[in-house]
Amino acid sequence: LVDDVVTARQSLELGLPLSAPHVAQPSHSYDYLIVGAGFAGAVLAERLATIGKRVFLCDRRPHIGGNTYDCFNEAGILVHKYGPHIFHTNSEAVFSYLSRFTSWRPYEHRVLAKVGDMLLPIPINRTTLNGLYGLELTDEAMAASFLASKAEPVEHIRSSRDVVVSQVGEHLYRTFFEGYTRKQWGLDPSELDKSVTARVPTRTSTDDRYFLDIYQAMPADGFTRLFENMLDHPNIRIETSLDYRELLKERIAPRTIFSGPIDHFFEHRFGPLPYRSLEFRHETLDTEVFQPAAVVNYPSPDVPFTRITEYKYLTGQVHPRTSISYEYAKADGDPYYPIPRPENQALYKKYEALARQRADVIFVGRLGTYEYYNMDQVVGQALSTFRKLNNSAANEKAA
Ligand code: FAD
Repeated sequence: LVDDVVTARQSLELGLPLSAPHVAQPSHSYDYLIVGAGFAGAVLAERLATIGKRVFLCDRRPHIGGNTYDCFNEAGILVHKYGPHIFHTNSEAVFSYLSRFTSWRPYEHRVLAKVGDMLLPIPINRTTLNGLYGLELTDEAMAASFLASKAEPVEHIRSSRDVVVSQVGEHLYRTFFEGYTRKQWGLDPSELDKSVTARVPTRTSTDDRYFLDIYQAMPADGFTRLFENMLDHPNIRIETSLDYRELLKERIAPRTIFSGPIDHFFEHRFGPLPYRSLEFRHETLDTEVFQPAAVVNYPSPDVPFTRITEYKYLTGQVHPRTSISYEYAKADGDPYYPIPRPENQALYKKYEALARQRADVIFVGRLGTYEYYNMDQVVGQALSTFRKLNNSAANEKAA
């Protein structure tokens, strides 16, 4: 059976695209059909393969890696096709699991926001306050009391706007959050669930790291290479540029693991779940450095994009030229972010109830469970799904 299985590594060594023409298989040639080769699908493929399960992994995109896919562009610069992905986690289990497939390059992410002519650290810290208001707050206590003086009590905190205003006041809200949020979500912060900004990360120190997690690092040879290593197993067959719907008639496997959008799976029976989409304009410039940080946010409503990323900061690559991407949020297109509003959660719950009736399908990942997850959370979710599958298989055997 495994003779015709082309693993990711073999495809690459043979110079084949990871999209060999799809070959019809007899019914149930595999134990699992996994839809989506992002972190959710790939981790489950790897785990199941190592316990002897035969896995057919497909993705409708022409590559593995899902949204974390990175590749060298025409100038030879490593870029993230779907926007900047920075790995960070507090989970030792997730970090050590991924370390089987990559070595790491230590990397601490920093973000600046362009306000007028100034570039100020985000999250708001003491440097941000000093720069914006021309102050000289020299210690944490001074910064804390300044921030407290800006906060404006809101009686009933209902929306994202209420959260921010109650913590940092109207001026900081308008300067950093209002325009950015409107562009990002296509909604005013007053229309967004308070959970979107459950806590505004402000700091009274001058620590300008974007994340504070214990583990902050980038895969030394990029995310795609990490995925190639993860999926390099003879029990895994990979087909890219293949929508799972093309396989439905073939009954390729008795069980499906689905990491695409759950509402697509059920053919939008209750109507489409709202997602926010993104568009990236990638450019390569004849200069070594373009901006002073990996990411510069543009909160102003007068600028159409939300942020600019310069990839060499993330990858550590040394190159005489540099590649950047402009990021635009939009309503239509590939689903990127589930939109966190109570009515959308209610709609998702209806799909979740349908999903519970399908013992043959497991829904995972950001789109399968309609939840904004970071990479480490998706890996954690996939590892725990695997443990449950493995335990229930062991119980069935024992019974
Ligand atoms: P995906 O990576 O989206 O994979 C799902 C796959 O399913 C896709 O490849 C899709 O093509 C495939 N698929 C869908 N439908 C079908 C179908 N019908 N047939 C076949 N295949 C199908 N997380 C971080 O930890 N740090 C970051 O810095 C970070 N930055 C981000 C920046 C952006 C712009 C975005 C959008 C997300 C970011 N994330 C970040 C989150 C991260 O991208 C996700 O946590 C992770 O990629 C989710 O993995 P997944 O497998 O659930 O989904």
